[in-house]
Amino acid sequence: MQKNYFIALEGIDGSGKSTQVKLLSDKLKKEGFKIYTTFEPTDSPIGSVIKNIFRHRIEADHRTIAGLYVADRLDHLLNKTNGILKKMEEGYTVVTDRYYFSSYAYQGTHMSMDWVIQANSLSAELLRPDLTIFIDVQPEVSMQRLSEGRDMIQLYESLENLHNVRSKYMEAFDRLKNEEIVFITDGNRPVDAIANDVWTKVYSLLKPHGTFAAKD
Ligand code: ADP
Repeated sequence: MQKNYFIALEGIDGSGKSTQVKLLSDKLKKEGFKIYTTFEPTDSPIGSVIKNIFRHRIEADHRTIAGLYVADRLDHLLNKTNGILKKMEEGYTVVTDRYYFSSYAYQGTHMSMDWVIQANSLSAELLRPDLTIFIDVQPEVSMQRLSEGRDMIQLYESLENLHNVRSKYMEAFDRLKNEEIVFITDGNRPVDAIANDVWTKVYSLLKPHGTFAAKD
């Protein structure tokens, strides 16, 4: 039986995560995988509160936001209807646009990263990604992309903050290098070059499990 996988895409805003989630998912589908793509913050009631905070419709402290992310992630995993764990049980390979490293990096710019990692430990115990892919983009490049594609610059998207978030991602990868498998790709390049790198890495992850045995 084909093994299924859990893959998380990470990066600062505008790094190209959703673009690469789509390309990777399409490629995996072509290879015969059942694919479920998803994202955080989710569309659940908890995720909606988070989105309303970004849109400045609700005011909240960073510690409150960190707690909301913990809850949203647990629901993302455990929801009985469309939770990631249920999808994995059903044989789907799940590709998510953001997972707990986003909390370590974004909330880690405002509060103790140790606390954020601890607060998310239940999610890490429930499901660690088989692979986390970090699309590493210069904040100036991502800001340029966002200004072309969107009219609303959200709470997290100021240039200075994106620099801080990028360095917190690097700090988190270093702290968790013994627990997590992280692949960093240069996201300043054209979409296809990044997609090729991502595919080469994912292929190397899947191959030892015999997923492509028939073709080799
Ligand atoms: P994210 O999901 O990380 O916020 P998106 O995938 O939505 O990023 O990309 C943000 C914008 O940048 C979109 O307009 C997208 O078309 C564009 N984009 C994505 N990847 C690249 C790339 N490698 N080079 C140039 N533009 C890109």
